[in-house]
Order: sequence, then structure tokens, then C-alpha cells
Amino acid sequence: MMTEEKRLAACVAPLLSWYRAARRPLPWRAAPTPYRVWVSEIMLQQTRIEAVIPYFERFMAELPTLDALAAAGEERLLKLWEGLGYYSRARNLKKAAQQVTAQYGGELPDTAEELRKLPGIGDYTAGAIASIAFGQPEPAVDGNVLRVVMRLTACPDDVLEQKTRRRVADELRGIYPAGEDAGLLTEALMELGETLCVPNGEPACEACPLRALCLAHERGETALYPARSAKKERRREEKTVLLLRCGGRYALHRRAESGLLAGMWEFPSLEGKRSEEELLAALTEQGLHPEHLAALGAARHVFTHVEWHMTGYLVDCAEEAPGFTWATAGEIRRDYAVPTAFRAYRKQLA
Ligand code: SF4
Repeated sequence: MMTEEKRLAACVAPLLSWYRAARRPLPWRAAPTPYRVWVSEIMLQQTRIEAVIPYFERFMAELPTLDALAAAGEERLLKLWEGLGYYSRARNLKKAAQQVTAQYGGELPDTAEELRKLPGIGDYTAGAIASIAFGQPEPAVDGNVLRVVMRLTACPDDVLEQKTRRRVADELRGIYPAGEDAGLLTEALMELGETLCVPNGEPACEACPLRALCLAHERGETALYPARSAKKERRREEKTVLLLRCGGRYALHRRAESGLLAGMWEFPSLEGKRSEEELLAALTEQGLHPEHLAALGAARHVFTHVEWHMTGYLVDCAEEAPGFTWATAGEIRRDYAVPTAFRAYRKQLA
């Protein structure tokens, strides 16, 4: 039987010719400068391509160069990122841009090893930038690539283990071309995983350029790969979210500088699911004097490790309580980065 390495090596040519014909036109693929590749790869982490496109275009229009990113104010940056989630990505982009300005004269370094030293750039992103923007023979192994490789080689290893990822990266590095084909191979593997060798449901093997080489397909076992150990359950948190309103302005609160949604603006909230009576009692105890309460309904937001189950209320107050920042609905939409987790309530601002 063919070794894993030979099987992977045999995939390169058919994969590249398929990709040259099949690739989708995406904004970051036009003019793939190191800066554009970097920003797009960071945005694409944990986020669907279709969702990223408008964000990428707006980001490039406002911050077209690494220098502009390094000099951008935090509020502006978070506003550009609003809705994309995982906001530490935006902060790390800026930190890394400042580091590149200070240490590398404003040009991203061209090796995966140097790129990995920058904030927010791990093995995957370093490989993507090094291969796509600089033509280095360096793979970028994400969930899509792991799935494709595990199916191709019918490998039962657990893809959630770091050592599996490292082994796949090493194997791919051994067969990677250099120059323009390096970037094309990185994109081709990702594209195959996103469009044909899909994660949920049956892969589209009949349309796949690698079907004659794919061991899982040959054995009729595509559903067995990739193998993964059971994930930990997400923690569930109940919250009562408040749109505190006073004279047309709403209360905002800034989250702590570390942890989930660090430094983002949010609507005030209380732990647990509160009834109207419980809420009235809690607000009165905090020195707020609600004049009127209206239920805004339930909402749920799922993060990687925690799920928020929220109940919302609009609370009209007689005076603006201290300890909050107060802003009109228009100001909140324009100037304050309020995470998507609060979308159900943000859209009820009037
Ligand atoms: S033949 Fe099917 S399982 Fe194998 S790589 Fe192609 S799409 Fe994936």
C-alpha cells in the first residue's frame, strides 16, 4: 500500500489544477499582499467566509496599510470589528502591527518562524501568511485541512490532539512546493475542505479531484474520519440584560480588560433569570428608581466554552445613575463596539 507521504505527494498536482479552475473570487485573493493575507486569515478564524467579506472590505478601506493599523485608535478598531466576535483578535492585530513597525521596519517578516513571534499569530496563521504571501513551503493546518488529510489517509488519530496536528503539518511540509504553488496549495486544501470535503454530512466525493487517491472514499468509510474525542460540555450562564433608559439615553458598561469580550461595551446585566418583581427589588436596592419596566424577550448566545441564556428588560429611570456611560441609540450604533452577543437587545434601542 502507498505510504501516507506518497499519497499526499500524489495529491499535489491534481489539487492544484482543480483549484486553478475552481477557486472562488474573494477580495483577499485579489492582490494578496502580506498585510491583506494576514488580516483576512485573522478574520477567517472561527468565522464564515461570507460573513468576513464585508468586514474585510470595510477594514481595508479604513486601514489600508499596516502603518494605518498600528496607528488606529482602539475604539475605531473595535468598531470595525463589531459583530465579528473574538475581539482579542483585533487587539492582537494592532499589537502585532506596532511590533512589526518597531522591529521589522513596517514589513511583515517572511518566515513562519518569525511570524509566530507576533501576537495573535499561531502555527496556522504563520503557515498561511508564509505560503500565500511569501511562497514559502510551509503548510497551514486548520480543521479543514486536517479533515481532508485524515480522510485521504484513513487515519484514525484524534484531530483534537496537538500531536496529530503537528504530525500532519510535518508530513505536509515534506511534500510542499515553493513559490506561487505553495500559496495555491494552502488555499486549495482549505477550499477543498470548505466546498467538497465538508464537515457536516456527506462529502462530495464524486466531484473531488482526489477521489482516486482517497483511502476513506475507496473503503466507503468517509463518515469515520476525522476521529475526535468527546468535547467538554459548554457552561451555561443565565443573565438578565437591562436597557436602562433615561431621557433618550441608555446606560453602557465597559467589561473588564481581560477575559471574555475584554474591554467591550455592554448593556448592564444581573446574574440569573429575574422576574419583574425580583428585578424591581434588585434595582431599588442598587439606588436606581425605575419608573417603568417592559420585557424584551429571551435571547441566547453561544461562545466557545460558555452559553449565555438571557432575558431582557427595558427599564425607564428617573435619573442617569452614576457608574455608567450614557449614550443615545445613534451614538451607541456609531461609536460604541457592543458585541453581537447583545444583538437581540441592541436592535431594540429606539
Ligand atoms: S474523495 Fe471524498 S473524502 Fe476523499 S478527500 Fe475527496 S471529498 Fe474528501
